[in-house]
Amino acid sequence: MAKTAIVTGGTRGIGEAISVMLKDQGMTVAANFGGNEERAKAFTDRTGIAAYKWDVGDHEACQEGCARVAEEIGPIDVLVNNAGITRDGTLAKMSYEDWHEVMRVNLGGCFNMAKACFPGMKERGWGRIVNIGSINGQGGQYGQVNYAAAKSGIHGFTKALAQEGARAGITVNALAPGYIDTDMVAAVPEPVLEKIVAKIPVGRLGQAEEIARGVAFLCSDEAGFVTGSTMSINGGQHMY
Ligand code: NDP
Repeated sequence: MAKTAIVTGGTRGIGEAISVMLKDQGMTVAANFGGNEERAKAFTDRTGIAAYKWDVGDHEACQEGCARVAEEIGPIDVLVNNAGITRDGTLAKMSYEDWHEVMRVNLGGCFNMAKACFPGMKERGWGRIVNIGSINGQGGQYGQVNYAAAKSGIHGFTKALAQEGARAGITVNALAPGYIDTDMVAAVPEPVLEKIVAKIPVGRLGQAEEIARGVAFLCSDEAGFVTGSTMSINGGQHMY
């Protein structure tokens, strides 16, 4: 029977590429999104993948959304925590709301979704969770104390949950993308982006499909011995 996967923020950008790649691998995919109905509808028309709207930062909404997916598609075997936002600014200019909203969605969303999906995976003795971190959670970034803290938190969350899932056949990994050509990066001012690209050893932005390929590997049966790790796909921009 086909495995069921949920991809949060799965209707555009990196998430869209992940949804499509997992479908191509034979999974039945539910793509969650936050509010952009127009993009979600276009995505479903294009790919045939069902889209489900809820806010990953809302604990109850995640419980309800995942229950709905399980009922309509099947028990959730694979969770990709991809939904993420930025609210950039230096510490001096960053409001508490900007701090809190990024923590609520980017890090809180991982907790909320794992709470909804992990128990069923444990019961069935198999599961894959991939949390999308960021190069800026690994190395920090000027004007992103909220985003860097949330993404860095994802890496700790991953390692802790991996230990809880290991004996139950559940792997939990993080994937840290470098700069990828999506709407999120399109929002970066052109001169700043030029400086960023100049620092990428391969000399270009990444493509969403290059991230999706890594996620597909981490979600495969063959990746059962990979857990608690961070896969970096960043064109050589951050090496450690
Ligand atoms: P986009 O801004 O292109 O897409 C974000 C997606 O997340 C959308 O589908 C959006 O839904 C969804 N989303 C946002 N907030 C919520 C919410 N509260 N609840 C549910 N869904 C939500 O982002 P990218 O594709 O660029 O990034 C995807 C992930 O990769 C993010 O976690 C990002 O931090 C990370 N990343 C991206 C990098 C890049 O260079 N692009 C680099 C490193 C990490 P909707 O369409 O409804 O708004």
